[in-house]
Amino acid sequence: TVLKSTVNRDRLSELYERERATFVLTHPRSAALAEQAATHMPGGVPMSWMVKWPGDFPIFIDTAKGAHFTDVDGIDYVDFCLGDTGAMAGHSPAATIAAVTAQLAKGITTMLPTADAITVSAELAERFGLPLWQFTLTATDANRHAIRYARLLTGRRKIVVHNFCYHGSVDEAFATLDADGRTVDRRSNIGPGVPTSETTIVVEFNDLAAMEAALATGEVAAVLLEPALTNIGIVLPAPGYHQAVRELTRRYGVVLINDETHTICAGPGGLTRAAGLEPDMLVIGKSIGGGIACGTFGMTDEMAGRIERMVPLEDIDVGGIGGTLAGNGLSMAAMAATLTEVLTEAAFVKMIPLADRWADGVQAGIDAVGAPWHVTRLGCRAEYGFSPEEPVNGSEAAASDDFELQQLLHLYALNRGILLTPFHNMALMCPDTTEADVDAHTQMFADLCQELFAG
Ligand code: PMP
Repeated sequence: TVLKSTVNRDRLSELYERERATFVLTHPRSAALAEQAATHMPGGVPMSWMVKWPGDFPIFIDTAKGAHFTDVDGIDYVDFCLGDTGAMAGHSPAATIAAVTAQLAKGITTMLPTADAITVSAELAERFGLPLWQFTLTATDANRHAIRYARLLTGRRKIVVHNFCYHGSVDEAFATLDADGRTVDRRSNIGPGVPTSETTIVVEFNDLAAMEAALATGEVAAVLLEPALTNIGIVLPAPGYHQAVRELTRRYGVVLINDETHTICAGPGGLTRAAGLEPDMLVIGKSIGGGIACGTFGMTDEMAGRIERMVPLEDIDVGGIGGTLAGNGLSMAAMAATLTEVLTEAAFVKMIPLADRWADGVQAGIDAVGAPWHVTRLGCRAEYGFSPEEPVNGSEAAASDDFELQQLLHLYALNRGILLTPFHNMALMCPDTTEADVDAHTQMFADLCQELFAG
């Protein structure tokens, strides 16, 4: 890629080794805990991705509040990762704490509805324009359920997804395109039950011809998409792309599912509302519970009516949809408070300019050294990538990836009290993020650019 020939690799590894040594030196308590943790957890972590943080071990968290957290070594960080959107409402927002605390004393899970469910479903209907909602505990499950219903309703098997998408640990989505444009298992797909070519057709983002060819097979139940890709860097839709996908999905009788789990950064109704999109189903999780496990999917009246007629009451608990703790009182209380009091219209009015300030800072750092990089904006989220132009699809975005450089960037940031979203170079603003937090990143980024390119 452009970058690999531009960044001096010796300089990169020299800086990385320096930063690694600093990291080890300044995090003795995390190091000790990481050693203990390895006794009963593979990699010393409760969830396998956590080994991918930069540095020789993950930092252990002591407390997190608003846009900051403190690790067990007493170091304060600005958090632009925010639990990869799970804490987009800020860590432990007061309104969510109050609602959840009250609910904790009143029963956590009963497998019966609470009145909060009415507040939440009404709020979601208002924001996203779909009238009827069901609840899960993760966005992954919401996607799985949406896919099952789409198959039930269409009597077809395959799902169309975008190349280099991510929708949670959803089997159908771990597919990519090979060099010949065929759908194959994504690299390192762990233990697929069947080859993904049997369940999935992958198309490039912004490629309408490929989308039409996929739908014309007559095998497609649903298109599952993020309105903008956010999991391979940010890739924005070309003008008219979504309108054309909507037209095609209608023409071929295919269910259109918008996954707004990350693109909620575009505004209170996500990119769906911001861009006036009209999906048949909509999925969201992570952020709307303020950090408490939650997920949900919405659908049209017509779909809900058909589903009701197709699934016999006697079998409703064994058809593959639902979860024992889904829709529990705690999760609903968290969503009710977070949606109505924290991730409000007013919060976005504050957060979006902060992301612009962050992106302006990154652009200034890039310009100062002439780095062949770009920065992409999406509401209160922004991301830099290692190519001169913004990518138009997942392949382009993946091709500009540079794992070693990313590791350096993230570790350099961490050593200066800044946490970026792992796996890419993304920053998310929460209602508590300040201009000073953003400017700390701007300074750090400018310093690294100088060290990398001018040093
Ligand atoms: N959809 C999208 C767009 C996501 O980015 C993610 C997680 N990164 C998910 C779904 C799945 O969320 P979870 O892991 O919380 O189920």
